[in-house]
Amino acid sequence: MPLPIKPIASVSLDLDDKWTYMKTHGDPKWSEFPSYLPIVVPRVLEFLEKRNLKITFFIVGQDAALERNHAVLRSIADAGHEIANHSFHHEPWLHLYSEQDIQKEFESAELAIAKATGQRPIGFRGPGFSISETVIKVMISRGYRYDASTLPTFLGPLARAYYFFNAKLDPEEKKKRAKLFGTVSDGLKPIKVYNWKTAAGSVTEIPVTTIPIVRTPFHLSYLIYLHGYSHFLSSLYANIAFGACGLAGVNPSFLLHPLDFLGREEAPELAFFPGMTMPSNEKMKLADRIFTALAQKFTLVCMKAHASKGEITQDAGAVVGVRS
Ligand SMILES: [Zn+2]
Repeated sequence: MPLPIKPIASVSLDLDDKWTYMKTHGDPKWSEFPSYLPIVVPRVLEFLEKRNLKITFFIVGQDAALERNHAVLRSIADAGHEIANHSFHHEPWLHLYSEQDIQKEFESAELAIAKATGQRPIGFRGPGFSISETVIKVMISRGYRYDASTLPTFLGPLARAYYFFNAKLDPEEKKKRAKLFGTVSDGLKPIKVYNWKTAAGSVTEIPVTTIPIVRTPFHLSYLIYLHGYSHFLSSLYANIAFGACGLAGVNPSFLLHPLDFLGREEAPELAFFPGMTMPSNEKMKLADRIFTALAQKFTLVCMKAHASKGEITQDAGAVVGVRS
């Protein structure tokens, strides 16, 4: 008897390096580009390899431009994962750039990423979910297949308030970050994959999925944050999220970050970040549990596969049923 066909869910990781957090936080030492990539990348690759998963890594162009990161970034592509673009400078105020500067941002990121990994990205995620019609227009002009820069939640302003409270920023820097993590109206954006239409054409939008109706996030960093309060709560919440997506016919796009795999001992400069009081072995245990639950309900694919939905085939050659 053939196995029942599971709906798909995509998995991606924003490869935010240590310096990107320090930069948004206002720590001047960011300009030396301190990195944890040599620690975290092999750890994540091993985690994915064990589960036979191929996901999408959104890479920051500035990291790819540094020769010292080439081997580690190349190892991601060599393991068969999709490489996508997470901007060059990782500035969450990308939506304030001029069109010309956005073009430059894309061009320099693509060149550096292609040089380091051998792949030209066809997917983009804005830093800190920074996105605008102009960014979409530039993406279309450069032949991108999908964008993944929206997080449809009402909680963005709350996350920003927490961030400002902990960061060392002057008023000018705060102004640039005025839309960091989005506005309340983001909660009204679609959670299913859709076509983002502009005068310049359209691009497939894959939102970072939030729980249907209540629109609260369930990316791994958020689950780790809940886990800090209660181990029971994080697992229950994840199961509710996955179940609600199944019921609503939503193919989730599940988001990961390097800090989901790093303990407080490995990035002491980022102690201000939620969830960074937890040691790495506890985070790995939680990630393991969450991925087991996710894979029970969904066939896990990369973003490129999610964008081209109906064409996706399982290992066995069967066409995966897509419900959204
Ligand atoms: Zn980022």
